[in-house]
Amino acid sequence: MRAPVVIVGTGLAGYNLAKEFRKLDADTPLLLITADDGRSYSKPMLSTGFAKNKDAEGLSMAEPGAMAEQLNAEVRTHTRISGIDPGHRQLWIGEEAVPYRDLVLAWGAETIRVPVQGDAQDAIFSINDLEDYARFRAAAAGKRRVLLLGVGLIGCEFANDLLLGGFEVELVAPCEQVMPGLLHPAAAAAVQAGLESLGARFHLGPLLTRLQRTPQGLQAQLSDGSELCCDLVISAVGLRPRIDLAAAAGLQVNRGVVVDRQLQTSHANIHALGDCAEVDGLNLLYVMPLMTCARALAQTLTGTPTPVRYGPMPVLVKTPVCPLVVSPPPLGQPGEWTVEGRGGDIKALCRDPAGRLLGYALTGTAVQEKLALNKELPALLA
Ligand code: FAD
Repeated sequence: MRAPVVIVGTGLAGYNLAKEFRKLDADTPLLLITADDGRSYSKPMLSTGFAKNKDAEGLSMAEPGAMAEQLNAEVRTHTRISGIDPGHRQLWIGEEAVPYRDLVLAWGAETIRVPVQGDAQDAIFSINDLEDYARFRAAAAGKRRVLLLGVGLIGCEFANDLLLGGFEVELVAPCEQVMPGLLHPAAAAAVQAGLESLGARFHLGPLLTRLQRTPQGLQAQLSDGSELCCDLVISAVGLRPRIDLAAAAGLQVNRGVVVDRQLQTSHANIHALGDCAEVDGLNLLYVMPLMTCARALAQTLTGTPTPVRYGPMPVLVKTPVCPLVVSPPPLGQPGEWTVEGRGGDIKALCRDPAGRLLGYALTGTAVQEKLALNKELPALLA
């Protein structure tokens, strides 16, 4: 029997690669292995579920059985791979060895946990897949007050969604603005003001240090000595690409699993894409790059080696109270910012010394200018 192409992960990266692969090759055995329940869903929808009134069931697009049929593939769910043996072209699921023709790592990134004292650490939710979301929705039923840790892109999206869903939201983060590192301060202020207009309360500067159960709910203690009461806590402090199994197998890792433009790891026949992959130095945790990678890798795996190219990759942030689109300037490129507009309508542009556009942050009505500006942006991987 021919060894299959094995894809580890059934998130957007794994399933989209399988779909692209099947467009080019109907017959090669294909095996998808996932630690979760294998339902197909669009992860970005996790931060719009309350506004759209969709629970985990409503966000699920297909059961794993239907995906297996559609892809002419085997889909093994609730199955965690525990090791890779590149020398023998096999991977391990506990004691079971599974041979592969080619192996693709699409195993994503995991949520970072913050160390917190107190007896209620288990009441801190992280939402990084459909099953997490189902657990949170069940816990949130009948509750009102949510404490959000983190004011990055995902924290702000959850805040907006929960506010639209009728929750009271407080946000805590040890930084001076929302989305630090991603957003110009003027655009960050517009987003923060938008969320505040819905009732969000920000505590920027301190960390959560202790979480205790009390008869009135959860009591959160912050590093500046202040205390907050809440019913639920969501941690959205960041994601870390999964690299441990790759490193243990001797593959080169850095922030993510290191791959070249053909998405090949440091070992032939092992590729990576999606949140776990660092593609020619870029680890982008967004949908557009992984879709581009899925198309290129499907070509490579079916005999047409195809390097991936990234054009500009602006990100549409789902904070409807303050529409936001952002394309941060490439790291290490010197540029100067100009800011126009005021209030919720900010146009912040970053240009290099020759006047070329490097990046932008647009909020409110300025978002309308994105298409024209995108034409000026540099490609991320030319
Ligand atoms: P994942 O979806 O995390 O899939 C990883 C898969 O690997 C899972 O099936 C998991 O079970 C499996 N796995 C992990 N370890 C193992 C193992 N050892 N063995 C077997 N299987 C394993 N991006 C945008 O571009 N726009 C947005 O608006 C946007 N909104 C977002 C909102 C939220 C709330 C979040 C969390 C992310 C958002 N993103 C957005 C990011 C985007 O969703 C991710 O970049 C993308 O979904 C990552 O897909 P992935 O397949 O690489 O990883």
